[in-house]
Amino acid sequence: MRLQNVRVMGPTGLSLPTSIEVDAPGAVDRDASGLILSPGWLDLHAHLRDPGFPAKETLQSGATSAAFGGFTHVVAMANTDPVTDRPEQVRALIARAAGLPIRMSFVAAVTMGLEGQTLTDAVALQRAGAVALSDDGRHLMDLVTLRRALTAAAEAGLPLLIHAQIERLGDGPESEAAAVTQALEALAAVPRARLHVQHVSTRASVDLIRTAKRQGLPVTAEATPHHLALTAAEVVALGPQGNVNPPLRSVDDREALRQALVEGVIDAIATDHAPHDSGAKAAGANGFHGFETAVPVVMGLGLEDRVLYRACVERPREIIGQSIDEEWILIDPAAEWIVDASSFKSRGKNTPFSGRRLRGRIVMTLCRGQVVMERVMQHA
Ligand SMILES: [Zn+2]
Repeated sequence: MRLQNVRVMGPTGLSLPTSIEVDAPGAVDRDASGLILSPGWLDLHAHLRDPGFPAKETLQSGATSAAFGGFTHVVAMANTDPVTDRPEQVRALIARAAGLPIRMSFVAAVTMGLEGQTLTDAVALQRAGAVALSDDGRHLMDLVTLRRALTAAAEAGLPLLIHAQIERLGDGPESEAAAVTQALEALAAVPRARLHVQHVSTRASVDLIRTAKRQGLPVTAEATPHHLALTAAEVVALGPQGNVNPPLRSVDDREALRQALVEGVIDAIATDHAPHDSGAKAAGANGFHGFETAVPVVMGLGLEDRVLYRACVERPREIIGQSIDEEWILIDPAAEWIVDASSFKSRGKNTPFSGRRLRGRIVMTLCRGQVVMERVMQHA
């Protein structure tokens, strides 16, 4: 497929070739004036709820939703039922994912059943194809267990991803800071280990991670579109629809996250896509749908294109050791639309952006050289 007049997003920002050939046999040539072509975004943090919770999401519905959202590769967390804590489960998930429209990688648990006690077999999980280890959703490891987990992950050559929250301290900023402090202390004691802090939400965490990076510790971090875009005050009126863990924070925290993203202290943007059925959400379940609103929410932050590229394309792949394989998205940066969750391809309609007018929409998604999504755009 030949695209005319398209702007291409790359490591240094946007460039405007007169035309570019994209490897997609059969796809029609098009004038892409005003559109942005980017390598597909990789989402480091998604809950696909499969196996165990088909009313919330499945691999198939999640993959379709991701394709519509502009993600050509997503990384699924292990807090399914059963928990992904054995090699044969990783192998079975990878086999099932082979037929999906986008690429999917799998994280395996750090501890059996996410209970924080008995370590999983990191080397066997890596050999089965797991790209990282995480107990995300929970964080029940003490300092000794964390050190042993980092040692095992280092031996397997995998990064350890942590949901930084000391559960007995609740979900306030102090609880997150205490967990980050403890994890960095453990990291400093384990040679060759790599630590990745998931969904960083506070200025205090950003400061701790910045200091650790300056000291040369191998730590990376992610922030979610919702923590970068929203504050606690904005979702008060939403009641349980505003519940998320970590919770939305203050304006000051949000500004610290944005600054950290520009500096590269926050490496990646990851959605923490956490679909729920309407009953569970109304009853107070934590988490937001992430895939289908991420691109416009992130583009609305006003970041430079080279920062977007780094946070959504480049660093997520470096963190889990993946490369780009004929994955492209075509974005209409000027398309405005009002979020109607009932139109989501995901089974999770739980979005804090419901009813909001967003700017930026995915026109086409290509994965493995195939067009896997194309949206007919109505221009005003
Ligand atoms: Zn989490």
